[in-house]
This record gives sequence, structure tokens and C-alpha cells, in this order.
Amino acid sequence: MTKEYRTEFLERRERTLTAVSYRFKRPEGLDFTAGQYMLVDLGNELIHPLSLSNCPDDAEFVEFTKRMTGSPYCDRLKSLKKGETISIKGPFGQFCFADSKGPLVLIAGGIGITPIRSILTSLEKKKGKSGTIILIYGNLNTEDIAFRDELENLKLPDYHLVHVLSDTTGMENAYQGFINADIISKEVPKSSNAHYMISGPPVMVEAIKKALASIDVAEDQIRTDIFLGYD
Ligand SMILES: Cc1cc2nc3c(=O)[nH]c(=O)nc-3n(C[C@H](O)[C@H](O)[C@H](O)COP(=O)(O)OP(=O)(O)OC[C@H]3O[C@@H](n4cnc5c(N)ncnc54)[C@H](O)[C@@H]3O)c2cc1C
Repeated sequence: MTKEYRTEFLERRERTLTAVSYRFKRPEGLDFTAGQYMLVDLGNELIHPLSLSNCPDDAEFVEFTKRMTGSPYCDRLKSLKKGETISIKGPFGQFCFADSKGPLVLIAGGIGITPIRSILTSLEKKKGKSGTIILIYGNLNTEDIAFRDELENLKLPDYHLVHVLSDTTGMENAYQGFINADIISKEVPKSSNAHYMISGPPVMVEAIKKALASIDVAEDQIRTDIFLGYD
């Protein structure tokens, strides 16, 4: 049965000029797996699914990171005052880490990084064997990269981060353009039985699925988290 919780707003953290994290007191009894999302209800029918962007081990808070678009929902988020309460319902979703033999390839488009950041930080905390992990992260430019420092400094045994930027000004080792089959082929070891997890706006997820099909990745090697509501 889906559970609903009242929770208290704690603080906001700016991640980029357009991505802001909102932290709420972790309600008692709320358990989630990295990669899941909740329905975040701000009242007056302002309700959106948002991925939990923090590590499930964080005992004190849950965090959602929203791309700020100027919508009424974002305006309401901006207006939240410390101590104000809202409702969250869930958790939902199956976009979660599953131990597999091959490399895990995480592909994020922009704000699609949120569930992936939760997965990566939870793997880092576990300090267990997590195998080869490749994160391919697409953004507009360097300023648009949410959680950059953290993702570049994750302490995972076999982890490789690939930046793909539409505008590479200020970053030498990034691919220019959009994530595509060429980049994936170069970065993911050939013959590998890699598993792919793709997260981002619908157009981006569809484009990556097509790219993977073009390099013969089977559908059952792919999981997606589609952020409906973005073009
Ligand atoms: C599983 C899931 C996880 C998500 N996680 C995140 C996250 O971590 N961070 C984040 O910024 N966004 C996330 N989103 C997207 C988020 O729920 C909003 O849809 C999106 O942020 C647009 O909301 P807005 O307030 O900016 O604009 P709005 O003006 O509220 O919406 C823009 C347009 O999209 C339509 N729309 C909004 N929500 C939906 C929906 N759920 N389904 C279909 N159409 C919709 C609206 O009718 C409107 O036309 C997620 C979506 C899904 C489905």
C-alpha cells in the first residue's frame, strides 16, 4: 500500500543556476531504494513526481532536486519556509541498481542525474564490490553540471565519468554535442554484457534507446527513467 507522509521543509541547496535541491525531514518509517521517486504534493494541486536525489542511508532528511522552470510548482517550491509542512507519497519506481556481471552504464541527461546520484552515493557508502561503472552525463555547458564535484570525486573502485556537453567551453576532456552511439561505443568496453540505465527527459531517453539499438544493445539490457513533463 502506498504511504503518504507529512514532512517539514529543512533547507534548499543550489546545485546549478537552474537546479535546486530541497531537503525535508525524513519521515519516520519512510524507506526507499536509490533510484526511486515520490509524489511531492505542495498543496493546491501542485503535485509532481520527483526522484529522491540523496542516499537512502541519510537518516535525517530526504532530498529532491528540481530543475527550476518558472512554473507555478517551482514558484511554490521557492516560497517554502523552513518548518513548513508538505505531503510526500511513495516511494515508487524500479529504476534501481541490480547487481550484474557486466559493467553498469549510467546515462543521464541534465536533471535526469537525480536518481543516478542517489544510486552512486549509495554504492559509495556501501563500499562493497560494485563492478565497473561508467557514467555518461550530458549537459548544455559546464555551469549546467549538477553535482559535478561530487560525481568527479566518487570513491568507487572502477568508476569512470564521461562528460558530454553541447558547449565544451571551459572543459577539455568533454565530448562536444549530444550523447550518441559513437560516444557510447568508445566509452563502453566492446563485447561487454553491459547493463544500461538511462534517465532524463523523454526526447533524450528515446534518442539514447535508438542509439543503443543501432549498436545492437538488446532491450532487456536497458532500464529507463523518463522525466515526463520536460520537452
Ligand atoms: C518518475 C519521474 C521522476 C522525475 N524526477 C524529477 C526530478 O528529480 N527532478 C525534476 O526536476 N523533474 C523530475 N521529473 C519531472 C517533474 O515531475 C515535472 O514533470 C517537471 O519537472 C516539469 O514540471 P514543472 O513544474 O517544471 O513544469 P510544469 O509547468 O508543471 O509542467 C510542464 C508541462 O509538462 C506537463 N507535465 C508536468 N508533469 C507531468 C507528468 N508527470 N506527466 C505528464 N505531463 C506532465 C504539464 O502539464 C505541462 O504541460 C520527474 C518525472 C517523472 C515521471
